[in-house]
Amino acid sequence: MLIPLGGLGEVGKNMLVVEYGNDIVLIDAGLMFPEDELLGIDVVIPDITYLQENKDKLRAIIITHGHEDHIGALPYILKDFDVPVYGMKLAIAIIKSKFNEIPMTREPNFQLIKPKDVLKFGEMEFEIIQSTHSIPDSVAIFIKTPVGNVFHTGDFKLDQTPVDGKLLDINRIAQISEEGVMVMLSDSTNVEKAGFTQSEKVVGEAFNEQFRVAKGRIIIATFASNVHRIKQAIDAAIKFEKKVCIVGRSMENVTAIAQEIGYLTIPEGTLITLNEINNYPTEEMVIITTGSQGEPMAALSRMAKGDHRQIKIDSGDTVIISATPIPGNEKSVYKTIDFLFRLGAKVVYEKSSGTHVSGHASRDELKLILNLVKPEYFIPVHGEYRMLLKHGELAEELGVKKENIFVAENGNVIEFTKEKGCISGKVPAGRVLVDGLGVGDIGNIVLRDRRQLSQDGILIVVATLNRQATKLLAGPDIVSRGFVYVRESEDLMLEAKRFVQQNLEVSLENGVKDWATLKNNIRDSLGRFLYEKTKRRPMILPIIVEV
Ligand SMILES: [Zn+2]
Ligand SMILES: [Zn+2]
Repeated sequence: MLIPLGGLGEVGKNMLVVEYGNDIVLIDAGLMFPEDELLGIDVVIPDITYLQENKDKLRAIIITHGHEDHIGALPYILKDFDVPVYGMKLAIAIIKSKFNEIPMTREPNFQLIKPKDVLKFGEMEFEIIQSTHSIPDSVAIFIKTPVGNVFHTGDFKLDQTPVDGKLLDINRIAQISEEGVMVMLSDSTNVEKAGFTQSEKVVGEAFNEQFRVAKGRIIIATFASNVHRIKQAIDAAIKFEKKVCIVGRSMENVTAIAQEIGYLTIPEGTLITLNEINNYPTEEMVIITTGSQGEPMAALSRMAKGDHRQIKIDSGDTVIISATPIPGNEKSVYKTIDFLFRLGAKVVYEKSSGTHVSGHASRDELKLILNLVKPEYFIPVHGEYRMLLKHGELAEELGVKKENIFVAENGNVIEFTKEKGCISGKVPAGRVLVDGLGVGDIGNIVLRDRRQLSQDGILIVVATLNRQATKLLAGPDIVSRGFVYVRESEDLMLEAKRFVQQNLEVSLENGVKDWATLKNNIRDSLGRFLYEKTKRRPMILPIIVEV
């Protein structure tokens, strides 16, 4: 039985339940960053009601690689479950550094795995297969169960010249195809892109080219987790005899981790700290930093806005944006690029520059894997709905029976027997919103309030009544925030105050004593009054005090 709890029809919070008999193994536990309409929400994690209801069956969590959309929910999940987490060296190191910042009641149980390892849980076997992706130590998983075999690609591309030399284990994939694969789940991210995704090596070559022509300082912004790329940037710096400064919290964190576990070796004297940058001529400097997605708080955005304390962008600088904007981030990325150009920098961001390649397989690679594995059933995963659909169509073109292709939704229970597979039900699988320390406490009502507050502000009306609720003793006083600039709207506020006063007195004369009704009257009538005057609909919060 397979139940995807995330990653279908959305980007992020990947999580797959693999269940047979009395055993459940979870593959990945990711988070998702909120869209703009989720005001104030920090992150979104999968709904794990199903796991909570089947707590005693959960044996392990296996992590395919260290990206946030695959590991980010672990801190929330391990609060509820005391299960071992299996992952490759880099993934575990990144996860551990996350846990350092979170107080836990018990020490999480982390287990290192390596390619070719086979983990046994009940009657299921999970074999770890080396893969290639935009972060080192990515793996695919081959699962043997009594009813049939499952192959899960994880996030992957077919990089023939990976920076760390660790190739996707195509031999093993050919062998498992011989053994027979009943179900394949495959990464759909780049199904809309024709051809093959270029090798990460291409980026190293492009860096060399940029370093060759750059006259002044070089600033490279990329994803902190892409250790391959950071290594290539540092290699170029060494080749051109430059000093490297790592800037930005997550970038510093990941490079430190990668050095610690031996995935990044930097010769002594190459790395300098932010405080030392003024000791070197600018043309000798390479800065590797975060902010390639235009994130407002990241180092590059602050440099672009002139807000960075130590680094001021200059007309001699070359800024390389080594990334493409993730859908939704385009606006802020291009804004950052514009700011940089205004400051006189040369900005390299075009696709044609070769300074970025994707970490996900394009159409021809997806075809190759489908043809190689020849699964009987196919479940496209990791993508928005149209990508899953296209990937399903691709599988059909390549000979998978239409009725054996499941373009599923999060929470769908996909059940297999030796004879057949079908979607047999649904378990809860929405999104759980995390805001600060609150997990799942914010729902539609709070979000609606936040939206209203963010659009037209709030007015608080305070009125004091006598105990019998027959007389207005003081007020009403009106306090507002985010509605109008009060100093320039004194007349309006005075009118509003008088309006509420009259309205209240009429209600009291008519013998209305019920506070809820009084409050509703204020809310409705003042709302209408303000809308007529301003065409705005602030939130109105009446408070009645009794003396
Ligand atoms: Zn992913
Ligand atoms: Zn990934």
